Amino acid sequence: MRDGEIATPAVEVRSSPIEGLGLFAARAFHPGERLHHVNVVREVTPEAPLRPELGERADHCDYPDGRVVLIGAPDRHVNHSCDPSAYVSYEEDACYLVARRAIPAGAEITCDYSINVTGGSAWPCHCGAARCRGTVVGDCFQLPPDIQREYRPLLAQWFVRRHAAQLGPRLEIWSGGQTGVDRSALDVALELGLPLGGWVPRGRLAEDGVVPSRYESLREADSPDYAERTRLNVRDADATLVLAMGAATGGTAFTLEEARRVGRPVLEIDLSAESTSEAAVRVRAWLESLVATRSFVRLNVAGPRASQAPGVYARARQTLRDALAAYAARTP
Ligand SMILES: [Zn+2]
Repeated sequence: MRDGEIATPAVEVRSSPIEGLGLFAARAFHPGERLHHVNVVREVTPEAPLRPELGERADHCDYPDGRVVLIGAPDRHVNHSCDPSAYVSYEEDACYLVARRAIPAGAEITCDYSINVTGGSAWPCHCGAARCRGTVVGDCFQLPPDIQREYRPLLAQWFVRRHAAQLGPRLEIWSGGQTGVDRSALDVALELGLPLGGWVPRGRLAEDGVVPSRYESLREADSPDYAERTRLNVRDADATLVLAMGAATGGTAFTLEEARRVGRPVLEIDLSAESTSEAAVRVRAWLESLVATRSFVRLNVAGPRASQAPGVYARARQTLRDALAAYAARTP
């Protein structure tokens, strides 16, 4: 910014239809964009308690990693919603409000008060969201299971560390359900007790008929087109692993292209050029770098179908079993 220029604030405080004052977007934000650097005034300790005479209140506090911190304006005005437009991302020594979806200019910025919290008090909710639960539970483990699953990637690293046993695996395996590499990933996930996810074509199409029902958590896309579900898997997962046999071609090449286009982390391994244990070492190192910066990773695994790469299922399965064993929820 040049001298004399006035910064346009990204957020503003005004009266809210949810309750009292709220925080609003002064411009449009895209999903994943930082909205605001949260104003942490100070840490509240026995030596430096809240000073009610100065308007400092317990409901303006946040509780990161067992500490108590006082949140200042404008962030203390963020209202709760059961379908929040934003969440708080804790990074090193700072925290940010981050858009959970596209937020148009003028829309209220909301967070779900039940994220990163256990044992808090409950109170009635009037947030007005279509999926309002009627109560702010103040405990993320009391949320309905589907909501817990949806919020899993939003949890802070410190919260995951403190509640690792209760939260379970930090990895979810995604694929498009095709024969070959896709199925090897799903089978390893089932074997290790890791959750499965991902999009399959409408009608659960695959080259051997339909995607078997044991992969029940895979969702059907609106289109029967393989490319469309590839696009959705790359978009909705956090990172993509491509296991090829030789140079990537066809759908495998399209997956790589798509991951690079949308800017997701991607690792390509040629299983015909190295041993499965060498490949596993590389996958493991790459995964470690991913989980170091995320509380939860949806890993999309893609590669050739069985008819295009004979033997790929067995090699991919061995590689993934070695690479993912450290994240297993149970011993195979
Ligand atoms: Zn609500």
